Amino acid sequence: VTAVQVTEAHLARIEAVDEKVNAFLHVDREGALAQARAVDEKRARGEKLGPLAGVPLALKDIFTTKGIPTTVGSKILEGWIPPYDATLTRRLKEADVVILGKTNMDEFAMGSSTENSAYGPTGNPWDLTKIPGGSGGGSSAALASYEAPLAIGTDTGGSIRQPAAVTGTVGVKPTYGAVSRYGMVAFSSSLDQGGPCARTVLDAALLHEVIAGHDPLDSTSIDAPVPPVVEAARNGDVKGMRVGVVKQFRGEGYQAGVLQRFDESVELLKELGAEVVEVDCPSFDLALAAYYLIAPSECSSNLARFDAMRYGLRVGDDGTKSAEEVTALTREAGFGDEVKRRVILGTYALSSGYYDAYYGSAQKVRTLITRDFEKAFGEGGVDVLISPTTPTTAFPIGERADDPMAMYLADLCTIPTNLAGNAAMSLPCGLAPEDGMPVGLQIIAPAMADDRLYRVGAAVE
Ligand code: GLN
Repeated sequence: VTAVQVTEAHLARIEAVDEKVNAFLHVDREGALAQARAVDEKRARGEKLGPLAGVPLALKDIFTTKGIPTTVGSKILEGWIPPYDATLTRRLKEADVVILGKTNMDEFAMGSSTENSAYGPTGNPWDLTKIPGGSGGGSSAALASYEAPLAIGTDTGGSIRQPAAVTGTVGVKPTYGAVSRYGMVAFSSSLDQGGPCARTVLDAALLHEVIAGHDPLDSTSIDAPVPPVVEAARNGDVKGMRVGVVKQFRGEGYQAGVLQRFDESVELLKELGAEVVEVDCPSFDLALAAYYLIAPSECSSNLARFDAMRYGLRVGDDGTKSAEEVTALTREAGFGDEVKRRVILGTYALSSGYYDAYYGSAQKVRTLITRDFEKAFGEGGVDVLISPTTPTTAFPIGERADDPMAMYLADLCTIPTNLAGNAAMSLPCGLAPEDGMPVGLQIIAPAMADDRLYRVGAAVE
């Protein structure tokens, strides 16, 4: 088959189902076909092809794409056409990937259901009345509905792993700094991390290898070789590996069917020769509270750049108003409720007099969580930790939309990894008997040991 045929098949699939799924905010039909044609021409000329030549991909609308709209799911960037490619976008193009379009997401990646998108919610392909997770619901739904074989997400507090879990797909948050943030719209800079989404562990590894690696344009980019993720995904041998079950991630609030599938995965790992032990990480109980101070604090600073002067939307610019008034009107009209809630919360937490009590305490908790991981992975410790990715399967669209606290609970198991900066994967481990919806298994590895995720993932897949 040719790259053009593969691309046309996926464009046809998008045409057939995306009206219902709403995974894409923008489909770049012409661009995708041009990329595919270029691959076929290169092949015909016998030229060297990139490692993912002709493979279509769905790109989360948080990465800049030269000449293609980038909205971050927000009205405030409606109509903005970036003049440059994110490093990740450039790397995909250099690998000869065919970018099909940009996927739906919670506005500025804030949310766990994609309902906070300014462009309408995405449906979960397993049951369109249910959420596909968030913030990267569009990318995971595109995979689950066979609109794309590969996708890209970003994970600040679980936005790759939680959508992967609830759509029965694979998602990886690489070690912080592994994938460049240059051209990725910032939400919470010390937590944000781009990563691969796919339907199999090996596919995710192949994509991981393409997007990871040092980038001088990102000051937090790691200058070290990418761990051997593809080799690990092909290996899948867990004999003699030490696997820790996080004690904190079960009990009240966890759906019975989720725990049942998780326990089966534990048994499977034992059968495959892994040694399984329970690991106590007491500070993880404080992770959610710390995250919802740190992430809003950083977002309140990052989102100050959306001032109606630099990008996108401008409201009230009729020659009678001051710049401050135009900025206020634009932000009022352009930001949704959740974004406003977080900017207000973050501004408050960072204000003088409250800084130590809120932001300062949250940073201390962050250190304690990092120490829990260090202890777990330290001498005589485990090679990886495992847990359910989410406490429950996908919930109905609308159920938690007006209850931010209930929404935040979806991130209970994923957030500690973002706070500590290490790596984690979610992969499918069966369907919950009570609702027939997918359940995710989370694997967590130390920083720069991303290959362990793929080794264990390939074993239990
Ligand atoms: N759901 C979390 C939040 O709303 C995580 C978001 C993310 O990882 N981008 O902040």
